[in-house]
Amino acid sequence: MVCTLCQHKTKVTNSRPFRAGAEVWRRRECLSCRHVFTTYERYNYRDITVLKRSGAQEELNTDKILLSIAYAAKSPSEAIELAKTVIEKLAISNQTIKSTDIAHVVINTLANYSKAAHARYNSYQLEK
Ligand SMILES: [Zn+2]
Repeated sequence: MVCTLCQHKTKVTNSRPFRAGAEVWRRRECLSCRHVFTTYERYNYRDITVLKRSGAQEELNTDKILLSIAYAAKSPSEAIELAKTVIEKLAISNQTIKSTDIAHVVINTLANYSKAAHARYNSYQLEK
């Protein structure tokens, strides 16, 4: 990456993983003017394609994942944290994911998180 001021080459002076390694924070310094700036490297979730049971394909819809988890979570903030974990797992695994595999990741994440959340999710799925 080049300097935002003079477009000269930069070097990374510090970096730190974020959100369980799904994001990387980097401090960069320009080799010419010494300007210091920060960059974030993260997954582009829109690159993930979902293969549905019908054979149709669509972009990963992170809102759908959040909604399905919202019923199992105790609070909205808990649902967001759980949804983030699911999405990060999906991003690491593949570029094309079957909708049934997404369901498995959701179930495993909830089961690891709490038995009560897992039970709430299952009863919601049965009601649907
Ligand atoms: Zn510079």
